[in-house]
Amino acid sequence: NGDIPMRDKNELTRLYSKLIKIMKSYHPSSDFTMINQAYEVAKEAHKEQYRKSGEPFFIHPLHVAIILAELKLDKETIMAALLHDVVEDTELTREDLEREFGHEVAFLVDGVTKLTNFSVEISEAGLSKEELKLESFRKLIMAMSNDIRVILIKLADRLHNMRTLKYKSPESQQRIARETMEIYSPIAQRLGISKIKVELDDLSLKYLEPEAYYDLVDKIAVRKSVREKYIQNIVDEVSEHIVNAGIKAQIDGRVKHFFSIYKKMKNQNKTIDQIYDLFAVRIIVDTVKDCYAALGVIHEMYKPIPGR
Ligand code: MN
Repeated sequence: NGDIPMRDKNELTRLYSKLIKIMKSYHPSSDFTMINQAYEVAKEAHKEQYRKSGEPFFIHPLHVAIILAELKLDKETIMAALLHDVVEDTELTREDLEREFGHEVAFLVDGVTKLTNFSVEISEAGLSKEELKLESFRKLIMAMSNDIRVILIKLADRLHNMRTLKYKSPESQQRIARETMEIYSPIAQRLGISKIKVELDDLSLKYLEPEAYYDLVDKIAVRKSVREKYIQNIVDEVSEHIVNAGIKAQIDGRVKHFFSIYKKMKNQNKTIDQIYDLFAVRIIVDTVKDCYAALGVIHEMYKPIPGR
């Protein structure tokens, strides 16, 4: 009868609690009645639909909402995220949303629906890559100038679809990964959302260049958490010496993600052993004098490599 099995129901409830928990951490209001209503309406509307993974379809909009809550977005965006596929895939209409959730949410969902349909039209028209890129870009930018939140929802939608791409056919995987690399990742970069950009790039690489990707994974065998711990230790050590030298500085570290290593190897025709900056530490100081002082501290701590 289209009822969602208990195990899946529990998963939906768990994800919803997670969403509210994240929202509470940054949202000034504690009234999430409308979020709850959007959750119930979207869950009901999608209840007979399943994803290729076998999970209830509604898992998808819930994950999209969580990605956006992690970016600390407003209630309307989160509601629109929960409802982003209902106009396209269920019997609910834009008017229904307008009546129940107001103009803003209906407008956002409508924007996402148009963007989705647009990208389907483009791939079916078989336009060349250059035409496709330019044309899509233009339309996306246009949508963006109306309301940037439409693009943010679309990016989160794409990110969750990329995370679950393994359930699609090989042809779809190639098409979607390429489109992600050529259109969505540059937009995420332009908007300065590097967290999404980095993940989109790494996931695209995994499908477009699986050999290169798994080779990198293999060579950088240490897990990401271990690498992050390693870089944190270096940051702590450097901070101690910089503070002792009486220099005021902001110090942070980062681990390069797969795609940027891959790009560097390819562009500069290097092997992984020739890539020196798998890890990076950045020291920001106020004056040129402090900059040289900091460099001096670093040279005392580590042996410089001539010519680099
Ligand atoms: Mn979607």
